[in-house]
Amino acid sequence: MPKPHIPLEQIRAEVEACRKCPLADGRTQTVFGVGNPAARVLIVGEAPGKNEDLQGEPFVGAAGKFLNELLAVAGLCREDVFIANVLKCRPPGNRDPRPEEIELCTPYLREQTRTIDPEFIVTLGNFSTKFILKTEVGITRLHGTLQKAGRFKVFPIFHPAAALYDGSKREALENDFATLGQLLRESDAAALSAAADETAPGAAAAASSAAPAVAPGAAAAGTLSVTATSAAGGAPSAVAGEPAEPAIDQPRLL
Ligand code: SF4
Repeated sequence: MPKPHIPLEQIRAEVEACRKCPLADGRTQTVFGVGNPAARVLIVGEAPGKNEDLQGEPFVGAAGKFLNELLAVAGLCREDVFIANVLKCRPPGNRDPRPEEIELCTPYLREQTRTIDPEFIVTLGNFSTKFILKTEVGITRLHGTLQKAGRFKVFPIFHPAAALYDGSKREALENDFATLGQLLRESDAAALSAAADETAPGAAAAASSAAPAVAPGAAAAGTLSVTATSAAGGAPSAVAGEPAEPAIDQPRLL
């Protein structure tokens, strides 16, 4: 029988007390994440920067302002989503997260994900995309393509900070957030249609018997095939959109 979800406040308390990796020594405070605790969309960035470390909240400052504009393109606002990072403490000088830091810190993200139980996980940039999809395929190839990790729909997008340094990424970001909005509306329409079918079971049965047979995997048409590699650097395993053992669905470690 699955364990009950850990309340977000309990996970937050564990993060605030965490000293599992050396990043604890340089932080002003931990950055747990913020937003709707029952969000349909979980946004996962990389790690706190200077402003986030000072304010204790992810995506503040220029990148945060830009993220708010992008969420509006998808028909969302900050209060609709939950925003978290792969790492909860700031790496010095905003350097890239190290593999050992990711390994030590991501149990918190796993538990946040289980508790929030979003429909979509939007991964911003290479680190969160590679961790959640367990892939070595980069964000340049994966952005804007719908993927799956266990029961979660995963939608990789460039990190908004990338557009602050490289203006050519701005259009790609806006297009991808527009696609995210479209995916949310399509999912709403499918849920409404399923609910209508439930209230008219005879019609649903007739529709299903009249429907053409769909080959397994056809629903994933249009998603990109990626090559997943185990977090421990094991042999790559070819997958089509859905890693065999998604990182975000691994057994709980807290
Ligand atoms: S980065 Fe994560 S694992 Fe390292 S001290 Fe902070 S909360 Fe703990």
